[in-house]
Amino acid sequence: MMKCPECQHDVSEAARTCPQCGHPFVDQPASTADGSTSAARKWILIVFNVIVGLWFVSEIVDYIDGNNVYETDVLESLAVLIIGNLVLGGYKYFRQFLK
Ligand SMILES: [Zn+2]
Repeated sequence: MMKCPECQHDVSEAARTCPQCGHPFVDQPASTADGSTSAARKWILIVFNVIVGLWFVSEIVDYIDGNNVYETDVLESLAVLIIGNLVLGGYKYFRQFLK
């Protein structure tokens, strides 16, 4: 038995929540599922950023070299990069790096 940190009620160690006050003792099952989802999403995000990032860089390099690349091509790849990250939730990961 252990004591609930919230209400000091004696609770079985197997219990996921306190039967008295509902205080959670272990991570919610939802967060574990969320963890694997975000891990998969992180890889999709990395692959996406590598591919689109290379495209964006190549457009800029071509543009600087003057290889018949228009500003719209550069902006198009940049737009795909930004929109893709917004859709995939990449801003959350970038926010982690900014902390
Ligand atoms: Zn409790």
